[in-house]
Amino acid sequence: MRPKIFQASGMAGLRSLVAPGFRFGSGARIWDPMSRPSPQTSDPGRALVLFSGGQDSSVCLAWALARHGHVETVGFDYGQRHGVEMWQRQVVRREIAAQFPQWADRLGEDHILDLSGFGAVGATAMTQERAFEVTEKGLPNTFVPGRNLVFLTYAAALADRRGLKFLVGGMCETDFSGYPDCRRDTLDALEGALNLGMAQDFVVETPLMTLTKAETWSLAKALGGEDLVELILEDSHTCYRGTRGERHAWGHGCGDCPACELRAKGWTEWAAAGRPDLVP
Ligand code: ZN
Repeated sequence: MRPKIFQASGMAGLRSLVAPGFRFGSGARIWDPMSRPSPQTSDPGRALVLFSGGQDSSVCLAWALARHGHVETVGFDYGQRHGVEMWQRQVVRREIAAQFPQWADRLGEDHILDLSGFGAVGATAMTQERAFEVTEKGLPNTFVPGRNLVFLTYAAALADRRGLKFLVGGMCETDFSGYPDCRRDTLDALEGALNLGMAQDFVVETPLMTLTKAETWSLAKALGGEDLVELILEDSHTCYRGTRGERHAWGHGCGDCPACELRAKGWTEWAAAGRPDLVP
């Protein structure tokens, strides 16, 4: 049975992302990434992007660079099957700085945190040579329980030391798999816990939270045009199998793991809609 897709976190969450006059394609969603009416909108703040080198976190990095004055990145080494994504994240960083000079000065240090012990606890298909399956909870066995909670907690500790206020992640409620640690409700609770536990005022920003994979491409185009779309197509890495060789229309990958299937589906939808950005 297809797992339940978690709903957006209520109308308040939706309204915060809606800007009058902007709509995607046929109007299925109305959304403007720059419109979130919160006090930090005009804050030339310091941000930390949870950056894996995948499609989603690459778009998040561009989003953060367009929004914040200083942006650092953090990657987690938790025993991934393949080092490919750790390599590609450096390529994405380098290419963004080279192709978007307006963002180059804002792109700060990269950090890698070793979470190999957590990877051992997870012990799922993400880190072992096991077939992809759907578990009894309706989640793919690529799901590492609580992964984003752990990542964000480590990120917050790093952000505390680095003086970074905004924690930016590509978590998304519209993924096919409905990871419970990607829900905005979960992240709101974690944001509160982090701020209490670290005596901080972190803001956890999730620009992709209510977007489909097709709309994530729209956001990329709105932020950096077709140049950014091409950069993400060519250099970001999503495939669970670590395959890069062949270039498909939607980028590199094996083409039949769940990550590739999701990426290909989103690309196909976006291309079929005429590759829109966030058009008036
Ligand atoms: Zn794949």
